[in-house]
This record gives sequence, structure tokens and C-alpha cells, in this order.
Amino acid sequence: MKILTFDIEDWFHILDNDSTKTVESWSGRESILQQSVSWILETLESHDQQATFFCLGWVAEEHPDVVRMIHEQGHEIACHSFAHQLVYEMTPDEFKADTTRAIQQLEDLTGEKVTTYRAPGFSITSDCSWAFEVLADSGIEVDCSVFPARRAHGGLHSMDITKPAIGMVSGHSSTLKLFPMNYRKALGRRFIYSGGGYFRLAPEALLKRWFADDDYVMTYFHPRDFEPDQPMVDGLSSVRRFKSYYGINKAGDKLKSLLQEVRFTDVRSADRSTDWQNARRIQLT
Ligand SMILES: [Zn+2]
Repeated sequence: MKILTFDIEDWFHILDNDSTKTVESWSGRESILQQSVSWILETLESHDQQATFFCLGWVAEEHPDVVRMIHEQGHEIACHSFAHQLVYEMTPDEFKADTTRAIQQLEDLTGEKVTTYRAPGFSITSDCSWAFEVLADSGIEVDCSVFPARRAHGGLHSMDITKPAIGMVSGHSSTLKLFPMNYRKALGRRFIYSGGGYFRLAPEALLKRWFADDDYVMTYFHPRDFEPDQPMVDGLSSVRRFKSYYGINKAGDKLKSLLQEVRFTDVRSADRSTDWQNARRIQLT
């Protein structure tokens, strides 16, 4: 099972950076979404592949045509929060309000239920595991926020799941179906190659081998990962600039080459084909 997903946000939705932190700081900025998402959709169509698109509610409000275009191509629309804020910096009430607003915005636009979620920056950590309870309360059934490795904006490195699992929430009758990121290990540390900096850094031949060898793969791509002509965010350190922009020129060709060789699925098809009866059960809260 190799799952293809994209987080639909703009070039300035970079977390934990002063110049792009608030919704107000985004107004008036030019957008790369129309051209980048069009490129993604054409690329998927030419390889006959389906994906799940985790969209920001903010994008649905500001650029409804982009979300409509994805939906009209038959891809799954899922939720990536409304305002792309770090979950561990929010209160449960703020997180609930953000999640509800995003789901409403996306459902109004597509006319379909939205029950799949991924947190901004995988920022549900062990300190804010209450977020899983809020998601279950908000009608979310499938969660793709578990990043079982260390990372700058969160990650749940204490959680050792490598396959879809059932997440249980204390005092809650409903459960969450979890599709975690998959990881590899090097020098005793876990790393995640199916998106972000490692995807752009790793040579194509190595990526192809990892994608072929691993039985379960969950990807996370962004429009900005494939867009060489994008403005650069102000105020990033040189390390973050490297992490954010290295390898963008080659990333589009890497994606095409994987689409050529790997048969991907979206989250909803992965959900249908998972044997949940025999899946591992994990206590989330
Ligand atoms: Zn994001």
C-alpha cells in the first residue's frame, strides 16, 4: 500500500517563522497555487493516479477554484486545518474552532463529507494528544497526522507504528483510523523520506528503491515542493532555507519517475482495503 497525498497550501505557509505566522501576514501575497496545483493534476492525470489532497480551509476560502479543480478531477478532499497553525500552540477550544471551520468550508465547497485530517506540520505531539479527542468529536474518522520520528514542528517519535492502526481515545466511543508516515532508520535514527527535505535531498535511484521495497508508504508533498519559480520566504535561517528550498528543481522529475513505476492509491481506497479487524490498537489519550 503506497499512499499519495498532497498538502494544499501556498509558498508562504511556512510554520514557526515570524514573517508568515499569522493569517493577516498572508494577505496581499501572490499565490502559486493555481499554476502549481494545475501541474500536479496534469501530472497525475497523465500517469492515471489518484491522490488525497489535504486542503487548508483558508485556501478553500481564498482560492475556491483551486479546491474545486482538484475535486472535479475526482481526487479526495481532506482537511489540513483552517489557518495552518501549530497544534501544540493552540488551546483545545482554539483547535476545535479551527477544525470545525475548515471542515465546514471544504464541505460547503464540494458538497461532500470531509472525514480525513492531517495536522499542520504534523504538530500533534505527546503534549497535545487531546487533539485526537477533538478530531473524533469533530467527525474526523481517519487521521494522517502521526509522524513517528523527530522533526522541527512536532512529530510523535515515541509512537512506534509502521502500518495503519486503530487509535483509541479515552472516554470516547469512536476511534480514529490512523495512517502514519512510514520511516527508515539510519545511524539509529528514524527518518522519513516520502516528502519534505529528505525527498528532495535523496538521489532518485535510492528513492525508487525505497518506494519499491517498503510495503507501506505514506507520502506528503506540497505544491511548493515542485515549483522552482516561487518567491522565497523572508527571515529564514540558512539551515531552514536549505531545508525548504534545496532540490526543488529536480523534485518534479522525481515525482514523475515514481508515478511511472509505483502504483499509488489515495487514503479512501487505502481505508477500504485495510483489514481494520486485525489492525493494531493504540491508546492515543
Ligand atoms: Zn502544512
